[in-house]
Amino acid sequence: MRAIRAVDSLVARLVAFTVVVVLVGGAARYALGGRTVGAAVERVAATRQLALANYVAADIDGKLQLRRRLLEALAREITPVLDQPHELLEDWLAQRADLLPAFSLGLALVPIDGVGTLANFPRDNGREKLSYGDQDWFLGAVQSREFAIGRPRIGRASHQPQVTLAVPVKDASGHVRAVLAGVTALDAPGFLDLVDHDSISGEGYFRLVSPRDRIYVAATEPEQRLRPLPAPGADALQDRAMQGFRGNATTVDADGQTEYVAIAGVPTGGWFVEARMPTGAVLAPLYQQLRIALLATVGVGVVVVAFLAIFLRGALRPLRQAAAQMRQMADGHTPLERLPIRRADEVGAIVADFNYLVDKLRASEARLAALAHQDHLTGLPNRRAFLDLAADALREAGRQGRSCGLLFVDIDGFKPINDSHSHLGGDEVLRQFAARLRNSLRDADLVTRFGGDEFMVLLDGVEAGDALATRLDALVQRLSASYSLEGCRVSVGASIGVAMYPRDDQDLDRLVALADAAMYEAKRNGRNQWQLARGMFDVGSAQVLRPVGR
Ligand code: GH3
Ligand code: MG
Repeated sequence: MRAIRAVDSLVARLVAFTVVVVLVGGAARYALGGRTVGAAVERVAATRQLALANYVAADIDGKLQLRRRLLEALAREITPVLDQPHELLEDWLAQRADLLPAFSLGLALVPIDGVGTLANFPRDNGREKLSYGDQDWFLGAVQSREFAIGRPRIGRASHQPQVTLAVPVKDASGHVRAVLAGVTALDAPGFLDLVDHDSISGEGYFRLVSPRDRIYVAATEPEQRLRPLPAPGADALQDRAMQGFRGNATTVDADGQTEYVAIAGVPTGGWFVEARMPTGAVLAPLYQQLRIALLATVGVGVVVVAFLAIFLRGALRPLRQAAAQMRQMADGHTPLERLPIRRADEVGAIVADFNYLVDKLRASEARLAALAHQDHLTGLPNRRAFLDLAADALREAGRQGRSCGLLFVDIDGFKPINDSHSHLGGDEVLRQFAARLRNSLRDADLVTRFGGDEFMVLLDGVEAGDALATRLDALVQRLSASYSLEGCRVSVGASIGVAMYPRDDQDLDRLVALADAAMYEAKRNGRNQWQLARGMFDVGSAQVLRPVGR
């Protein structure tokens, strides 16, 4: 079987094509899937972030508003009792200790000069000794005559992260007489829990920003709590949020990490909530899925390719085997034969077509074989075939004790026909002469054109004698009757030399030579007659030399 180079192999090409299709398909799915699904996931993530930010911001705002309302209500109640002695005022305040859960670090009533406290709850917690004139919440409440919120920080008395909310206490004529402050620990239960102990943002995190103070009030990451914001420019989105932007966007944070960020305002504190989520956290599972899909594609591709290779090799094997068998036949190592058709597919069809070729070849081989034993002009067996057949016939005759006559026939005066009617005319006379000669013989007799205008005949089972002489006379007569050629009649004669087997000789070649010599004898004696091989035939001389008239 001839080896096929890999680049030329159909199997290799189909397998390579499949590999390319699988790889390109997988890569395209990875790229396109990553982009389209990624975009959809980003939209979902951004929307979710905004919803989270809004939810957390609303929660915190609600808690601040609750505290503001509590303080304002309390401030209104205090006004009538404001001038009572310190002890009584503090008792009064203690009775409202049910407010304590909202203000986990207590309440303080600060006089308008900001020095010490008029009342303090819990009592004697150190606040009564402090001065508040410079505190932002104090100044804010006095100056704005409204609710104010202080900078979140570590309390001077509590030593804890805290935020102080304050409202002015006004008298009947509307003058601010004192400031009521409520202090809440930033990590008090039920206050900023959603930010601090994030359980809703998944991979993301929250930060609660006070833009006025440029600090994080609260953050999911403990280390960020009460930390100052990064410098302007470090986080573009945060900068925009400081300018009032609310909504969602993708940004690169101060650590260089790309994040989906949603900003939602907390109006009561002037704060805002950042709900942040690294894009990687959202997209990583997606790309993980895509990678798995890609691996699965490659895996399936490998299996498909393996099956394809095995299948194709199997499918094409009969074709290669057929080709190898054809080659064996073509080289003559095996006889030319039809191949078995084992399949009904394209390979079977090719083998069937090959068999058709084999049939044709065999037919033409048979034709060539026949031609090889035939004289192409007259259709008689050629000299070679005649000699083989004659040798067999003589052997058979010898075995059976039969006698045979070998006739050497040469046309008399043939050349002039060629000259006057062209070679084609001569051929026509040769054909008619051959036909006449054949028809004058029995089926068992053999005849050949020996060459040129010479013929040879083997008469099987004839004895030298009168019967033969009569047959030869009739033959000479018949062969010399005129022939029709191109509308004319032309005449030739026939000179025949006769050698008898086994009487003259038993060897075919010598018999041929004897008959040939006898034929020349006939020519010399005047042509158009038969002549027995000289001296070997015991008949009367008159008969031997009897000419036959035309
Ligand atoms: P002779 O009476 O002595 O036999 O003379 P002839 O004219 O018959 O000529 P000869 O037998 O000496 O020569 C035979 C001629 O036949 C010679 C050749 O030109 C011609 N010849 C041989 N083969 C063919 C053939 O196949 N076709 C034709 N048309 N002529 C042939
Ligand atoms: Mg002749």
